[in-house]
Amino acid sequence: MKILLVLYDAGSHAKDEPRLLGCTENELGLRDWIESQGHTLVTTSDKDGENSTVDKEIVDAEIVITTPFHPAYITKERIDKAKKLKICITAGVGSDHVDLDAANARDIAVLEVTGSNVQSVAEHVVMTMLVLVRNFVPAHEQIIEGGWNVAAVAKDSYDIEGKVIGTVGGGRIGQRVLKRLAPFNPMELLYYDYQPMPKDVEKEIGCRHVPDLKEMLSVCDIVTINCPLHDSTKGMFNKELISHMKDGAWLVNTARGAICVTDDIVEALKSGKIRGYGGDVWNPQPAPKDHPWRYMRNKWGGGNAMTPHISGTSIDAQGRYSEGTKNILEVYFSGKQNYRPQDVICINGHYGTKAYGDDKEHKAHVSK
Ligand code: NAD
Repeated sequence: MKILLVLYDAGSHAKDEPRLLGCTENELGLRDWIESQGHTLVTTSDKDGENSTVDKEIVDAEIVITTPFHPAYITKERIDKAKKLKICITAGVGSDHVDLDAANARDIAVLEVTGSNVQSVAEHVVMTMLVLVRNFVPAHEQIIEGGWNVAAVAKDSYDIEGKVIGTVGGGRIGQRVLKRLAPFNPMELLYYDYQPMPKDVEKEIGCRHVPDLKEMLSVCDIVTINCPLHDSTKGMFNKELISHMKDGAWLVNTARGAICVTDDIVEALKSGKIRGYGGDVWNPQPAPKDHPWRYMRNKWGGGNAMTPHISGTSIDAQGRYSEGTKNILEVYFSGKQNYRPQDVICINGHYGTKAYGDDKEHKAHVSK
């Protein structure tokens, strides 16, 4: 069978660090093993535009593997063309780059390596909060530019201690973020999720469920977004929802770029409605050179803690999601379908998870 693997190019970096597995050169460390099983592996980074390698190669591929860091968007149009496609594997977490309803309609399975980089992302979230709240970026820029002006930075620098912090999404990453924040002595840790955590988990973390999103946003000094991108989270942080946030709050988004409306974030930062925005996810990816999130600043020249999509692709995470991808392939090759249940996003024409929305239409697809 033919397997199409879509990853980012690393060039010389692939040689510098052979454990940089998530690139076209190192192919998740899977080429020899896949070929030893008698299968064909086609690897590319060329994923966008009508005549891309993905468009050409997907036509007779049975398996597509891609990462959220350099996602091959598996649209309905591509699914329609891919007559032999049986399974899409996300080497990482977050499968919104696949049109999941279209995959279900064609009975294409969608699997991901659940949990493989949740610790990596949680660390990045806490780092981004610190970078924003402490006003690190302008301070660092001063130093490398040869300057020294304590007041210019200090006037917009605060502590995490004593703040109210809330996560939208209290799943694997949301929980890990809250746990890591507890030692900072925040005023309160809150979360909003239609699937509340078990009470003992809430107690262990020391957090409180708020059933109304706007109510939570209205009291949070720092908000972090940790839910998947799906129909009801696309464009969720728009001007209207942002208007319910506390004035001057910080917003961190490592979930997906499209959960926030690009221009509404820029506007909110400019006006001072939010004091800072940071994260690593963009819409689309790679982000074009003129994406306004690259250059946006608050009125004092800070408030931007954006990076490329790196939070979930640390060297440690790459080892875990490469291994997890191999495990999923092994199950697929065996024909048994006994995947780890938590890895299943879609199977047999149904959603295998409740994390991609609680709307009626979605529930109709969720396996009982
Ligand atoms: P998870 O499934 O463990 O948790 C997601 C939670 O979000 C679930 O509890 C779900 O009920 C909740 N949710 C869904 N829709 C919601 C909504 N409208 N409002 C509030 N909560 C909602 O997933 P996870 O492992 O915590 O990952 C979450 C997301 O983070 C992924 O889907 C992915 O988009 C993103 N992610 C990003 C990176 C990165 O490198 N930046 C890496 C991993 C995951």
